[in-house]
Amino acid sequence: MSKSHYTLTCLHCGRSHEDSSSGFLLSCNGAHPAALLRARYANRQLAIHDAHPGPFRYSDWLPVRRIPREAHGSVLYQSRGLARHLRLNNLFVAFNGYWPEKGAFLETCSFKELEAYSVCARIPSGERRTLVVTSAGNTGMAFLQVCSENEVPVLVLVPEQAVPNLWMTVEKHPNVILAAVTGEADYFDTIEIGRRIAAMDEFYPEGGAQNVARRDGMGTIVLQAAERLGRIPDHYIQAIGSGTGGIAAWEMSSRLRADGRFGSQPMQLHFVQNSPFTIMTDSWQRSSRRLLEMGETEQRERISQLYAPVLSNRVPPYEVRGGVYDALTDTHGHMYSVSEREAREAGELFIRLEGSDLHPAAEVALAGLIKAVALNRIGKNELVVLNITGGGSARLEREGKKRAVVPDIVMHRDDGVEELVGKLLSINGMR
Ligand SMILES: [Zn+2]
Repeated sequence: MSKSHYTLTCLHCGRSHEDSSSGFLLSCNGAHPAALLRARYANRQLAIHDAHPGPFRYSDWLPVRRIPREAHGSVLYQSRGLARHLRLNNLFVAFNGYWPEKGAFLETCSFKELEAYSVCARIPSGERRTLVVTSAGNTGMAFLQVCSENEVPVLVLVPEQAVPNLWMTVEKHPNVILAAVTGEADYFDTIEIGRRIAAMDEFYPEGGAQNVARRDGMGTIVLQAAERLGRIPDHYIQAIGSGTGGIAAWEMSSRLRADGRFGSQPMQLHFVQNSPFTIMTDSWQRSSRRLLEMGETEQRERISQLYAPVLSNRVPPYEVRGGVYDALTDTHGHMYSVSEREAREAGELFIRLEGSDLHPAAEVALAGLIKAVALNRIGKNELVVLNITGGGSARLEREGKKRAVVPDIVMHRDDGVEELVGKLLSINGMR
């Protein structure tokens, strides 16, 4: 694959950058406020590569340097039962998870696997350092699995509370290390610890929302919908914690608009959060570009009550140029807040009408769709894509495919650099 099929454009100053030959270029070095980079692809029209696996079918629009032999993808299908129930004539489900009858084989049961594949494929050849990934749970699990399959050295950090919900379906590779962060650490604490480690010589950061491969990997869900439906969907519904997947969907729909063959109207975004932790919903509903202020203690308290704990980033890329606020503004989007009860009811509805169990975050998304329909924000003939970001985990469990994962190392959220180095050195196999 040609190295030059993409460049990276700064969304603040507009400067164009070549990707780094070491690790990933994550930001512009211009003297200006933080802004995301966006990949700009040489091929302005969407090309389809039938021979490439999973999301790499759209590799011209992925910032990757190689194509893996194997990768699983998202599955798009037209809903019947749920569609009838909601009186929507064109409801499509982007299912990410395990559902063999539908051809869905993401065995960590989440769309985060899409980003893990594309991030791994973006790593420059010759990179010898260890990738650092921080996660509230699902992303970590996806990297444990995909990095094991592809023998990519990685250190995955998750809050201790997330560990019981982690599994793999393949053998963990010796260079794949799981660290649990203790001290009642939440996702943001974990990100902070990861930052300290990634600054060390032997490590490099994955970068979260700043990594264009992460975003565009998840954005392939929108490309799949456009390929299948022949046009940009009218509405896109997703639950968001950081909002990275939502930003990704917006960016891909913008590329499709520029392509010209899939329509020119924006894809309206409907993002959903889980009460009582709904900082982005609250900020958006007050038309605020700034995230509303909330004390750290209150934030932690609210996060501890979440039914869908992955929806819990305290410092999400909302205000940043190219972030959630811009995405919603550009598409005249909406945000919703749903309770645990509403999410659970939505989950039961999905099992009954469609046939798969859902991840709590996907239940939250469906509950949001139900609200959008009740508010008459979606016309009955409009083209709707519901991103089921995770499902099939109960099924996988019943089939006995899950292997529990045990942390290789435990860190405390107050650990300083010296303590972290000491703990890292204690792991066999680490350089
Ligand atoms: Zn810049």
